Formats: sequence, structure tokens, C-alpha cells
Amino acid sequence: MQPFAEKLRLNGNGLKRRAVDVLQVNLGRYCNLACTHCHVEAGPARQEMMSRENVDAVLRFLGGTAIPTLDITGGAPELHGEFNYLVESARGLGRHVMDRCNLTVIFEPGKKYLPEFFRRHQVELVCSLPCYSIDNVDKQRGKGTFDASIRALQMLNQIGYGQPDNGLVLDLVYNPVAPHLPPPQEKLEQDYKRILFEEFGIVFNRLLCLTNMPITRYATHLKLRGEYEPYMALLEGSFNAATVDQVMCRNLISVGWDGGIYDCDFNQMLDLPITNGEKRLHIASLTLDQLVQPAIKIGDHCYGCTAGAGSSCGGSLI
Ligand code: SF4
Ligand code: SF4
Repeated sequence: MQPFAEKLRLNGNGLKRRAVDVLQVNLGRYCNLACTHCHVEAGPARQEMMSRENVDAVLRFLGGTAIPTLDITGGAPELHGEFNYLVESARGLGRHVMDRCNLTVIFEPGKKYLPEFFRRHQVELVCSLPCYSIDNVDKQRGKGTFDASIRALQMLNQIGYGQPDNGLVLDLVYNPVAPHLPPPQEKLEQDYKRILFEEFGIVFNRLLCLTNMPITRYATHLKLRGEYEPYMALLEGSFNAATVDQVMCRNLISVGWDGGIYDCDFNQMLDLPITNGEKRLHIASLTLDQLVQPAIKIGDHCYGCTAGAGSSCGGSLI
């Protein structure tokens, strides 16, 4: 395999950070699900959670900048004890808040207030639903997940989420169940919209297509099936130089549960921190100036963002 760095160089591309306009915060690895494709390796047994001290450091940093968007992820971030505090405080700072929600979390004990909480704070919801078929969703995310997700979407629709123009944005996330690239996003969105409305009366705003990242749990899953090498070859062979300008590490930074700073959530999981010399940057002392110099840490996993139509937390890139 041609190393990603070499591929970039040969295609005349660099990967330089622009102004940061999304602060993505990973509150921890605890989750009520344990999906096969999860690059966070999240699950019910994980205990890593961001401390209140680091949540306050995130808010201090955010308040000292003009970064417009706070993007909260996990694990299941809503199961973190400081989730409400973080959302309310960021909204108090006038920032747009996004929550990466697995939908089923709404049915966890003590969480039925969540839809109304989201609505009150105009939280943009980005919700995983890797297929409109029960078999595919339950295979990837666990038995019963599809039914719970559908019920959650119906509840969110009832309070206004998913309509055009009322500010209550409900996006769905597709990722392939098998080791292939996502199909074209626009066409799949039409299929999702038609089928979810016809069968369940569900509406939503956008479908975001994500490529599964061949790292951590998903890499193990592929290796056990002898599918890792072919999948990496598919990603490399599908490299699309036109996506490089849009990859998310150019305008986003990712904060880990322990306060460490990364180019993206994937680099966080691979323990590739942004450093100043040998020193790892930390949210408690971070300034935007510290992000100007360090190069984005790239590796062969970056083929996952640049294959085909490209992939990011915001869906396909081109
Ligand atoms: S719901 Fe999300 S965070 Fe939780 S295990 Fe699945 S992919 Fe990972
Ligand atoms: S994996 Fe991270 S560093 Fe690599 S291209 Fe994607 S966003 Fe950028």
C-alpha cells in the first residue's frame, strides 16, 4: 500500500489547518450500545468520562474564542453527568450546539426528558441510523436497536424536529454495514426519506453518509474476517484528491475525555495528539495560537476520509 503521506504529496496536496470553526468534544467512552463499527470502542463497560474540571476548561476555552459550534460526541454523551450543564452553558455563550445521538439513549432510565431538553436548547441532532431495514441495523448495533430508533425519531418529530425551517435540525447518519464505500449521499437520502415516511411517518432534514474508519474495533472486526487488507486496498484505490480540501481536520479540533487535543476524533482514538514539541496540548491551557504551527498528523487511516466522495462528521465531502 502506498503510504497516505506519499499519495498526498504525489497529488500535489498538503493538509493545512484553517481557522477552527467546530470544537468537537468527546465526553467519554461509556455507551448503552456496543456497535461493531465503533471507532471509539465505546460500550456499557467503558468508564472513561470527562471530569467536571475539564468540562469547565472546554467552556472557558470556547468562551475565549469566537468558535461558533460545539459538537458533542462520545460514547453516548447524554449519559454523562455534565451533559446538560455543558449544553446549557454553551448555549448561554451563544454557540450552536450539536449532539451526536444514538437515539436509543432516550429510553435509558431517567432520560425521557431528553427530547424536550434538546428542543428547548435548539440542539442540532445528528443521529445514527445505518439503514432503513431492521436486519441491517440490529446486526450492526444490537437487537432491538432499530425499533427503539424508530420510536425515538417519531417522538422527535412530534415535538417539531426534522421539519424544514424551524431550527430543530434532525440529521441521520448512514454508514455501510459491509466493508464497502457508502453509495451517493443524495440518492440514498431520497430513499431514506421515502421509505421512512411511507413506513413510519418519519421526516428528517439530511442524510449524512460516512465511510467506516478502519481503526480500533472496526479494524479488529475486519481482521477477524480476513477483510482488513481488501478494505484498505479499496480505500486506497478510491483515493480522491478533490476531497482533501474539505476533510474535517482542516477546520475542527477534537477534545478527548481527558482534555487532550487532537486533529480529529480518529486521531484521538489512535492516540495521535497535537503537540507543541514533545508536549501534548491540553484544553485547560489551549490557545488558538498554539494550533497554527503543528502539522496535522496523517496516516493510512486518512484514506477513510478521502476515498470516493470523501467522509467527515458532516457526511460526504463532495
Ligand atoms: S452508539 Fe455510537 S458511540 Fe455507542 S457504540 Fe455505537 S457507534 Fe459507538
Ligand atoms: S483521519 Fe483525521 S487527520 Fe486524517 S484526514 Fe481524516 S480528519 Fe484528517
